[in-house]
Amino acid sequence: MGDATEKPGLSKLVVVATPIGNLGDMTFRAVEALKDADLIACEDTRTSRVLLQHYGIGTPLISYHEHSDSGKPDMLLARLRAGESVALITDAGTPLISDPGYKLVREVRAAGFAVEALPGACAAITALSGAGLPSDRFYFAGFLPNKTQALNTALTSLLQRPETVLCYESPKRILATLEHLAALDATRQLCVARELTKRHEEWLHGTATDIHAALSAREQVRGEIVLLWEPAEEKTVGPEEVDALLQSLLPKMSVKEAAKQAADATGLGRSALYQRALALKNG
Ligand code: SAM
Repeated sequence: MGDATEKPGLSKLVVVATPIGNLGDMTFRAVEALKDADLIACEDTRTSRVLLQHYGIGTPLISYHEHSDSGKPDMLLARLRAGESVALITDAGTPLISDPGYKLVREVRAAGFAVEALPGACAAITALSGAGLPSDRFYFAGFLPNKTQALNTALTSLLQRPETVLCYESPKRILATLEHLAALDATRQLCVARELTKRHEEWLHGTATDIHAALSAREQVRGEIVLLWEPAEEKTVGPEEVDALLQSLLPKMSVKEAAKQAADATGLGRSALYQRALALKNG
């Protein structure tokens, strides 16, 4: 409900992407939005203060951590209700991309306030645009699981994806992850994009074994990493395999369902599979 302090129309949450290492990657619009906001919610105020000082932005900062700050969303909503505008930034790159913000954006929208998103740097997209891997479709897997078994399960499944896969990885774990990848697929072409936009930006290409050899020759692997690999080769399914699959499905389900399941399994068109399943069923 409105009160005397409310300034309707100005209240909004502006989600602002910031650089992933190179301060020059801030957009003009991002600087203006942070200057115009009444309050900036960030992860680490010390990190964000460096950016704000560089661009002469005097807007007050407040730290916001999605998982621990149980009362903060209410406080930020109260500021919106009072007619203020709030900007959300993170330590680096685009908020909500392996970074906090999703819950806040959801709550702000649910409360009926406007949300704007300002595009800018994102490590995953920067890596994709420079890696030279197929980019028409891609799958962003965020951070990989820590525990060995969960990591292996995740990698096994991710290696089957028909799109280029991107993961965020830490320099401490990259060698172990590459060892798992090498054991699961010795020929897949990978890319390690390290320290993007920074002085020591580096792109390593090759199999998991090639990149492991290059990195393990160093005293220490440093910097921030995006790991990418090419899509799984599309399997070509021959007519005998299609028939065998349909024959195994037909006794258990309708022609329509068999065609659907065969389409999901093979990537072939459902209507052609339906016709073939019908022909097989009718002998
Ligand atoms: N929201 C950010 C974005 O838009 O890219 C990512 C935040 S996530 C917490 C941090 C991870 O992103 C790092 O561990 C690393 O995997 C990746 N990353 C961030 N900056 C990078 C850079 N300059 N080069 C390579 N990877 C980077």
